[in-house]
Amino acid sequence: MSIIIKSQNEIAIMRQAGKAVSRVLQRLAREVRPGMKTQELDIICEEELARCGAKASFKGYRGFPASVCVSINDEVVHGIPGTRVICEGDIVSLDVGAIVGGFQGDAAITVGVGETSPLARELMAVTQGALAAGIAAARAGSHLGDVSAAIQQYVESRGFSVVREYTGHGIGREMHEEPQIPNVGVPGEGVLLRKGMTLAIEPMVNAGGWATRVCGDHWTVVTADGSLSAHFEHTIAVTDGEPEILTAI
Ligand code: MG
Repeated sequence: MSIIIKSQNEIAIMRQAGKAVSRVLQRLAREVRPGMKTQELDIICEEELARCGAKASFKGYRGFPASVCVSINDEVVHGIPGTRVICEGDIVSLDVGAIVGGFQGDAAITVGVGETSPLARELMAVTQGALAAGIAAARAGSHLGDVSAAIQQYVESRGFSVVREYTGHGIGREMHEEPQIPNVGVPGEGVLLRKGMTLAIEPMVNAGGWATRVCGDHWTVVTADGSLSAHFEHTIAVTDGEPEILTAI
């Protein structure tokens, strides 16, 4: 499969999908609180997607049973909502995908619940900063390696590590299109970026080492050393100038 360049009309539809994702994430961020079961977030996600006229991307994807991924503390990504109770001080990563008019939007945020530790707050800030650095590097005429290297450099210079086993991705009619977007890389290497490419950039950052493992539910990814992990993601369109963030909050 090759990289699909989107027309301005297609990007306009992706803007709608991105808006739906953004609205759902804002609602989830407002509602998350200590004592709540993670499955309550899935109900809210479905309600808000329906209100936006959007379909969930994740539900049924390779058998994933929910519309939102909820990953807490040492959980990196792909946490399944269920009976786990959210506690004061947790950091909660929320990943949502939405389909509108046949096109996808995909974004993630990590939110702190009540009073979080200084380490947790720094980790969330660095991960968000790494996403911004990656997006800033995604310009027509640059290479994918510039995006990956910007993320890696931002994170590692601040003493954290970047998850290597999972990557960002092209996005469009399919949730996962070419190219894969690693969060580590070498400037100037990889695919040449062109106007009309639509990319989901998503650094996953660990307070400890970068290694991860998959839990017994075959979905939830956790840090191998039990350290905290944060995740921020946006869907963007490459333009002639500043990238457009389609899932902007
Ligand atoms: Mg994604």
